[in-house]
Amino acid sequence: MNKDFDVLKYIKDFPVLNKEVNGKRLVYLDSAATAQKPLSVINAIKNYYENINANPHRGAYFLSTASTEAHDNARKTIKEFLNAKYSEEIIFTKGATESFNIIAQSYGMNFINANDEIVISISEHHSNLIPWQQVAKAKGAVLKYLYLDENGEIPISEIEEKITSKTKLVSITQMSNALGTILPVKEIIKRAHEVGAVACVDAAQSIAHMAVDVQDLDADFLVFSGHKIMSPMGIGVLYGKKHLLNKMTPFLFGGDMVEYVYEQDTTYAELPYKFEGGTQNVEAAIGLQEAIKYINHVGIDNIENHVQQLLEYAHEKLSQLEVVTIYGPKELHKKGGVISFNIKDVHPHDVSTILDSYGVAIRSGNHCAQPLMRYMNINSTCRASFYLYNTKEDVDIFIDSIKNVRRWLGYGS
Ligand code: PMP
Repeated sequence: MNKDFDVLKYIKDFPVLNKEVNGKRLVYLDSAATAQKPLSVINAIKNYYENINANPHRGAYFLSTASTEAHDNARKTIKEFLNAKYSEEIIFTKGATESFNIIAQSYGMNFINANDEIVISISEHHSNLIPWQQVAKAKGAVLKYLYLDENGEIPISEIEEKITSKTKLVSITQMSNALGTILPVKEIIKRAHEVGAVACVDAAQSIAHMAVDVQDLDADFLVFSGHKIMSPMGIGVLYGKKHLLNKMTPFLFGGDMVEYVYEQDTTYAELPYKFEGGTQNVEAAIGLQEAIKYINHVGIDNIENHVQQLLEYAHEKLSQLEVVTIYGPKELHKKGGVISFNIKDVHPHDVSTILDSYGVAIRSGNHCAQPLMRYMNINSTCRASFYLYNTKEDVDIFIDSIKNVRRWLGYGS
């Protein structure tokens, strides 16, 4: 393992990993669903309520100003984290799902027309799929898919054939939550721009594992949820290029997102407030800021290396088990810290329940990617995912418990 990365030092920062859960040591292998939270994030939320809490933007008094400043400060940290050009390009949302719905409703419904094409990949999470179905249905547009080859990758020919002058919007995940596949988003964005289409990136998984730079990617929109990078739930980000956000209509109408309101008409606030109707989740924005500080303290490259080494270690051990089928790319550098697999003749929910009895938490199901499962001719998979606080020992416990699954169910081995 990476000698410079002292994982035990970081584990101490996560209260839930330092106690028994349901009477057992927790082996948490479900960070792709949500990451555990370090004490600095938990304390930042406590500090907010003990010292700063007030409704932001609405008062001239000390606390309200402090709350407003804390919220804006969090935005600046996210701007730096994504290397966005302007703070106004960072919109706070509830999470990736809400961010996609804003793009679909406020951009898609206004700028996509009949017979235009929208291109996504077959490995998209439902949150980057259903909003585009809605736009396609409402506007008479066509929703097209990039399909994976037998190696679990999108061939270049697929990108060139599907993204054409008819394409008006391309929306692609940078890392699949279901298979761990890292998609060539930079190339896809380049192709989208060559044909004059707008490109959105789903960074809900990748944001936890690699440096994400919106200017380097040249993404027009990029979304993520804070909880996957150790922030509280209920906060996420919509990044959008200023000129695109400026021409979009607001998504939520109400308090705070307005300039002037008349009996019959309204003018809207400037960016980013135009898209932030209603009282904001200041505590979670501060929690997200603290989570980013934590990532910066550990180093995103260190996290990426550590997770990659765990992935390789787990992959090697798991592939030695004849009863296990692993999905996704064979070449591990094309994969993030996610292993999707099945055990012969055992339903993933049974695997997950049996592993739980060993204190091992993995995910089972379709991972909000039903079209992908159907495309692969399976109903569901088991998914183990790794993060900075996981160890080789976690992987060993995971593998040992996997070896026991079929025995539990009465199979010989
Ligand atoms: N996209 C991907 C790739 C995801 O993994 C997730 C969460 N599982 C989402 C989008 C949606 O995120 P949220 O549920 O936090 O809105």
